[in-house]
Amino acid sequence: MNNVFIGLGSNLDNPLSQLKAAIEHIKQVNAIKLVAVSGFYSSAPMGPQDQPDYINAVIEISTSLEAELLLDELQKIENEQGRVRKERWGARTLDLDILLYGDEVITSKRLTVPHSGISERNFVLYPLQDLVDANFKIPGLGKLGELVASCPVESLKRLSEN
Ligand code: ATP
Ligand code: MG
Ligand code: MG
Repeated sequence: MNNVFIGLGSNLDNPLSQLKAAIEHIKQVNAIKLVAVSGFYSSAPMGPQDQPDYINAVIEISTSLEAELLLDELQKIENEQGRVRKERWGARTLDLDILLYGDEVITSKRLTVPHSGISERNFVLYPLQDLVDANFKIPGLGKLGELVASCPVESLKRLSEN
């Protein structure tokens, strides 16, 4: 079994419900066991600014699926929840990114793991901090605590109610 962290994001059609539905869908995949869910956070959009704020979270799962098969499952769930790909970083009902896949470093045509945005994205690092401690090592990038220390919190806010 592989320990995997997935980043969830949504800014359309009731984002909080989208994230909760995605977690339910992920739990229903046979080869996936849900281990933990971070708090839910709101964040300003990256890229195009003429779109609503996002809700983000990170979950930890345990899975026997090899990384690209896991990506297939996650993309199926994105599509089922109405994901439409238009402009890069445009508004979406659901984004499911593989942040970490055990301690593996993957660079294939379909996958970069650790996810390429990890060290700059407060909406990934702060929720991840809910699930692991500051000494947790991100392959090739150092300790989570160090990455968090150099990533400003800006307008990221933890929602009071999960
Ligand atoms: P970003 O990856 O910068 O957060 P995005 O999530 O909006 O942008 P998507 O449109 O969801 O990008 O995905 C584009 C492609 O990224 C996917 O088809 C997938 O093959 C590729 N990809 C590369 N690495 C990963 C990863 N770690 N997790 C998910 N998708 C990945
Ligand atoms: Mg993404
Ligand atoms: Mg994505």
